[in-house]
Amino acid sequence: MIAYIERFLDHDDVESSSAEQDGGDAILPLLTGIDLLGTVECGGGSLRAAGKDFGAVQSSKPLAVVKPLTSDDVAKVIRLALLSQHLTVAARGNGHSVNGQAMAHRGLVVDMKTIEQKIDVDPAAAYADVSGGALWADVLKRCVLGYGLAPRSWTDYLDLTVGGTLSNGGVSGQAFLYGPQTENVTELEVVTGNGDVLVCSNNQNSELFFSVLGGLGQFGIITRARVLLQPAPDMVRWIRVVYSGFSEFTRDAELLVTQSEGNSFDYVEGFVFVNGDDPVNGWPSVSLNPDQPFDPTRLPTNAGPVLYCLELALHYKNVDPSSAIDKRVERLVGELTFLEGLRFDIEVGYIEFLVRVKRAEEGAKTSGIWDAPHPWLNLFVSRKNIAQFDRLVFKNILKHGIGGPILIYPLLRSKWDSRKSVALPEGDVFYLVALLRCSFPYPKGLSVEEMMAQNQQIVQTCTTNSFDFKLYLPHYDSMEGWKQHFGDQWPRFQERKARFDPMAILAPGQKIFPRNR
Ligand code: FAD
Repeated sequence: MIAYIERFLDHDDVESSSAEQDGGDAILPLLTGIDLLGTVECGGGSLRAAGKDFGAVQSSKPLAVVKPLTSDDVAKVIRLALLSQHLTVAARGNGHSVNGQAMAHRGLVVDMKTIEQKIDVDPAAAYADVSGGALWADVLKRCVLGYGLAPRSWTDYLDLTVGGTLSNGGVSGQAFLYGPQTENVTELEVVTGNGDVLVCSNNQNSELFFSVLGGLGQFGIITRARVLLQPAPDMVRWIRVVYSGFSEFTRDAELLVTQSEGNSFDYVEGFVFVNGDDPVNGWPSVSLNPDQPFDPTRLPTNAGPVLYCLELALHYKNVDPSSAIDKRVERLVGELTFLEGLRFDIEVGYIEFLVRVKRAEEGAKTSGIWDAPHPWLNLFVSRKNIAQFDRLVFKNILKHGIGGPILIYPLLRSKWDSRKSVALPEGDVFYLVALLRCSFPYPKGLSVEEMMAQNQQIVQTCTTNSFDFKLYLPHYDSMEGWKQHFGDQWPRFQERKARFDPMAILAPGQKIFPRNR
C-alpha cells in the first residue's frame, strides 16, 4: 500500500485537483491502519487551513492533516512516513509563521493543538509541564490565575504555541534578563525523526535537547516542555519615552539591558516611528493613553525623518507602596536622556500587559489587515553595525514607515546558550529588528512584491556592507542560503539532522534538507 501512494508523491511539481488524484484517498487507509487515538482529515477546512499561514504569501497542499491526541500518535505518523520514500511530516503549531515553515507539500501536517492539552503546574518546584501545542496565552492564564506564578520570558503576542516558539527562540522585552524562551525550559519530550519518543534535558539526551531548541523543527516534534516559573507580579508600570537621536536611544537601551539583575526595568523594548502625523506609523502610535497625546512641538527642529521610542515596564505587587514604585521608576528613568515632555506612563494589570497585542489583533481583524499578506522581516543586527543600519535602513529605505510596527531592542549574547541551534551574530550585544508589516491588502496598501523587494533591499544592504547580522525566523530557498546562515554551525546542524532525522522527514516547509530516499 505504501508503494501505491509513492506514485502520487514522486512528482513534486504536479498540481492536482482532486484528493483521489493527489493521493489523499490513498493515504487515509494507511493512517487509519496505524491505530491513532486521534483523527485524520484528507479534505475540507482542515486541509485548506494547513496549506496557509499568517504570512499569507505561501500556500501548499498537504495530503492529510493528522489530529493527534498523544505523543504516541505523533510517533506512529513519523514511523509511517519512514516506510515511505517521499512522505514528509510538518508539525503545525498555530500556523503563525510567515513563509510556509509549518507546511508540508504533499506530506502530512500534524496539528499540535489537538494533542491532549496539558498545563500541569508544580508550584513548589516552580515549573509547568506544558503540551507542545499549548498556546502561551493559555499557559499565562493557568499559571497566573491558578498559582500566582508566571513564565519568565515571553513573546509580544501569545497566541503562538509553546513548540512553535521553542523551535525558533521566542523573544520579547524580558529576553535581555532571562534569555529567549529556549533558555527558560529545562526538559522536553520530543518525538524524533526516527520515530522515538524521548525525554531530554541538560543531563539526559542532552544533544537532542540542545538541537531541538531553536532547531526550526528539524530534529523532532516537541510534545511537552517543562517551563520555568517565577512569582507573577500583579501590576505593570508601562512607560514610553521618545528620542530624536539614535545614539541617545541606543545608549539608554544598552544601559538598561546591561544593569545587574534587579537594577533595571523588567522589560525593555523599543520601536522606530515616522516623524509625522500618520496614525499607523507616526506620532499617534506612541501615546499609551488618549488623555496624554503626543505633542510634536516638543521635538527639536532638526529632528530627522524617523524618531525612536524606548518602551519599558516595571513589575510590582499590589501590596508594594506606590511611593516606593514611583521612587524606583524615577531613579531608573532619571538616568535616561529622552526628549522632555515626551514621556508616557500608564498602569495596567500584568495579564493585560502581556496580552496587549491581542487588542491590536481584534482591531486588525475588523479592518481586514489581519488576513492580508504579512511579508515580515526579522533580523538580529550586531551592535557594531546598528548605527549604520539606522542611517541606511531606518532613515532612508524605511523613512516613510512600513504600515506597522518597526521594533528594535538590544539582546545579550551571553543569555543564549551556544549549544542550542539558533544562529546569532557574533557581537556581545545585538539588536532585534522586526519589520511587522500590517498594511491593507493591495491596492490600498503596497503589493506583496513591493514589500518583499524592500525586504530584499534591506538584507542586501546588510550583506554588501558586511554587517554582522542573522535572519531571525529565517527563510531561504536554497541549501546554500542555509549554509551561509549557519556559517560555522552548519556542520553541527547537518550532523544533528543525520542523527535525529536521517531521512529528512520533519519540517519540510523550512526548505533546508530535501527528503532522503
Ligand atoms: P508554526 O508557525 O505553526 O510553526 C513554526 C515552525 O515550528 C514550523 O517549522 C513547524 O513545523 C515547527 N513546529 C511547530 N510546532 C512544533 C513542535 N511542537 N515541535 C517542533 N516543531 C514545531 N516571535 C518572537 O520570538 N517574538 C515575538 O514577539 C513574536 N511575535 C509574533 C507576533 C505575531 C502576530 C506573529 C504572527 C508571530 C510572532 N512571532 C514572534 C513569531 C513566532 O514566534 C513564530 O512564527 C512561531 O513559529 C509561531 O508559532 P506557531 O505556534 O504558530 O508555529
